[in-house]
Amino acid sequence: MSDSYQFFAQVNKAFDKAASYTNLDRGLLAQMRICNDVLHITFPLEKDDGSIEVIEGWRVEHSHHKLPTKGGIRYAMTVNEDETMALAALMTYKCAVVDVPFGGAKGGIRIDKKKYSETEIERITRRYTFELYKKNFIGPGLDVPAPDYGTGEKEMAWILDTFRQISTDINAEGCVTGKPISHGGIRGRKEATGRGVYFGVREACNHVEDMKELGLEPGLEGKTFVIQGLGNVGYHAAKNMIEGGAKLIGIAELEGSIWSEEGIDLDNLVQYRKEAGTILGFEGTKELETRDKALELDCDILIPAALENQLNEKNASRIKAKIIGEAANGPTTSEAHEILKNRGTLIIPDNYLNAGGVTVSYFEWLKNLSHVRFGRMGKRFEETSYRKILSVIENISDRRFTDKELEYLAQGAGEGELVDSGLEETMIQAYNEINELRKKHNVDLRTAAFISSIEKVGLIYESMGIFP
Ligand code: NAD
Repeated sequence: MSDSYQFFAQVNKAFDKAASYTNLDRGLLAQMRICNDVLHITFPLEKDDGSIEVIEGWRVEHSHHKLPTKGGIRYAMTVNEDETMALAALMTYKCAVVDVPFGGAKGGIRIDKKKYSETEIERITRRYTFELYKKNFIGPGLDVPAPDYGTGEKEMAWILDTFRQISTDINAEGCVTGKPISHGGIRGRKEATGRGVYFGVREACNHVEDMKELGLEPGLEGKTFVIQGLGNVGYHAAKNMIEGGAKLIGIAELEGSIWSEEGIDLDNLVQYRKEAGTILGFEGTKELETRDKALELDCDILIPAALENQLNEKNASRIKAKIIGEAANGPTTSEAHEILKNRGTLIIPDNYLNAGGVTVSYFEWLKNLSHVRFGRMGKRFEETSYRKILSVIENISDRRFTDKELEYLAQGAGEGELVDSGLEETMIQAYNEINELRKKHNVDLRTAAFISSIEKVGLIYESMGIFP
């Protein structure tokens, strides 16, 4: 493997460490860790002023042990082959940890989004989709992209629209997830990764013995936290953490870091940023000396939700948080991981913690394939059944329910409620699985999450009978 594949090598280092705790065949493990397909594409963009620019992008399908493969598309200047391969591999392991039946994939285009108009971004997205289609790298049963850093609902809608123009597949809506609801998206997808981060951190905090080891009280209530990156994942993670009783005391963004001991009013800050174009100068907060300084604040929980390699050998020894919730992909380098682990920090790893997005993407894909909204068939039936039970209770007792109580108690589950319940269950169950493996093998949670996925993917390979 070339020296330029550093991020992918880092993922494989973690894989190898975890693989040593399994009894799987060495050849099978070698098959599991490589990337099955790597597509590198270049195409011309005609800019609004008529000039031509060459655009470079990738799509990597890491593992075909399950199809379709699944993974986000990133628009950033950091995008390269190494990063896309590493992120694709992480997707395989992430899907396995939360029992989402997909192989891992990832895509990316190396652009600085700010330098292009919306129509240029649309042309880039549509051409990229066309290239993926031509090379068999997109389709509801093949490979299903989703949003990632620098992309969102709008790009996903353009991908679907392009795919529909060139494919007659009846399941075309399932070729991409993270779409707007009006284009076959699902309620709760936009918030899913951040909400999953909250469920995962909350579950970790609910383990009394684990908290005792960290010198912390159990529960999320009253815990202080810091967020790096106030984008889709960071914002929703922070919002849910606050609603769950935690206090946001610091934020690091591209323009700088802010801090407030009393807690930061998140929604007012977001509004302020929209108007002022910066988080700096927000009422009741202090500006810290450098952009990354908030990472070093004295707090219970640090949530890096921006990009990879943010916690590294340069700053790891100054990080004071007792819990690190890796919302971003690969935010902690292996050197930083060792430093933090030796200090007793609990690192809740990315390959588990940010799996909420792919979990709800899975629900969206299921919705697209079944061509029906979750809850559409059963909601009214459930409500009628609950009302019958409540009326029996009224008939055999003196209890009379108010209209408000009836509305609350007889509520059937709609799409939003079902998605949220599925996400919560997934994150809680997976945390407990990896926490048990952590204790069984006396390893950290990252290694435990890798052990969990390697064993699950290994089982699938073995059951295919291809390997001994
Ligand atoms: P986003 O583009 O919506 O937000 C990222 C935010 O980070 C932006 O506000 C940006 O200004 C900020 N940022 C970038 N570099 C920074 C730095 N050095 N310091 C401080 N802030 C910085 O992206 P997102 O979708 O929220 O993704 C964030 C991370 O979460 C990425 O690592 C992504 O791979 C991962 N992730 C995203 C999803 C998803 O559903 N969107 C799912 C799983 C994982």
